[in-house]
Amino acid sequence: MKIAMFNTKTYDKEFFDKAIAKTNHTIQYLEVSLNPTTAALTQGFDAVCVFVNDYLQEETLELIAKQGIRLILLRCAGFNNVNIEKARALGMRIYRVPAYSPQAVAEHAVALILTLNRKTHKAYNRVREHNFSLEKLTGFDVYKKTVGIIGTGQIGVAFAQIMKGFGCTLLAYDVHQSQDALNHGVQYVSFDEVLQKSDIISLHCPLNPTTKHMLHKQQFKKMKDGVMIINTSRGGLINTIDAIQALKVGKIGYLGIDVYEQEEHLFFKDLSERIIEDDVIARLMTFPNVLITAHQGFFTNEALEQIAETTIANIDYYISNTKTNNEVIV
Ligand code: NAD
Repeated sequence: MKIAMFNTKTYDKEFFDKAIAKTNHTIQYLEVSLNPTTAALTQGFDAVCVFVNDYLQEETLELIAKQGIRLILLRCAGFNNVNIEKARALGMRIYRVPAYSPQAVAEHAVALILTLNRKTHKAYNRVREHNFSLEKLTGFDVYKKTVGIIGTGQIGVAFAQIMKGFGCTLLAYDVHQSQDALNHGVQYVSFDEVLQKSDIISLHCPLNPTTKHMLHKQQFKKMKDGVMIINTSRGGLINTIDAIQALKVGKIGYLGIDVYEQEEHLFFKDLSERIIEDDVIARLMTFPNVLITAHQGFFTNEALEQIAETTIANIDYYISNTKTNNEVIV
């Protein structure tokens, strides 16, 4: 099968080269995103392989369907960027990588917590400037704090396991309870109770119409003053404008985000010589208590290897018409 891979970075190529070498398939690596302007590049290919910031909405899907594409390979877990109903109506099948080292993302959420709390990013810069003062570097003990987990799937459970090790009280809200989470000492409560009682709230649920802007002005009001919010899931879970207001009045004491609502215009690109036109992220970056990383939660060797291997396995599931939970059907 001939695959056109969009949004390719050097690290994608490194891991996909290894995985594809064992097969008869071929990959054409393309650096551009897949969108209506680039859809013509799919001519002569059987499948596209895309990432989180390739937005496959109606127009793009119609254009690639005309080129004969029948298989969409998402090299990520989330699929909010693809209009699944439209793709299926056009006769395409969509596969994803539902699990690739949930620990990678959970550990990154913990990295955001510890960095925001103990300000190691500031301490590092200070010491390099021979400033050995501790002024304004005060943190808090994570031990015995209440941590609220929204979404206790694979990543939420991996996160719970780590935070249990810190000696935290674990509260969670999910539309389905997980036995694994309960085994790690998670106590399920209502969404509001998670918001009201938690010192740290970490989001681990998917973005869909019911979860979009699940944290907004009214929800921030319910939280403890100075709450820490961590989002390694999808930017759209938080109303960013409302979050900025809550930061300005000190309601949110710390915000750590690996994802951002408008990230497709920014993340995974070197824009260091460009003017940032997005005033919302520019405002966020002015807060001393906001830490932003550019969607790197998944970014470990183990996860990249698993993503490549599962994506290649998905091609074989498609060819042999083997039933798999990796196929997105909704
Ligand atoms: P998962 O499917 O295993 O778990 C998601 C959980 O969210 C499930 O338990 C589900 O019941 C729950 N959920 C669904 N709707 C909910 C709602 N309205 N309220 C509360 N909980 C709800 O997914 P996962 O592998 O744990 O991944 C979680 C999310 O992390 C993904 O959807 C993706 O957006 C994000 N992610 C981010 C990165 C990164 O690099 N930052 C990497 C992988 C995944």
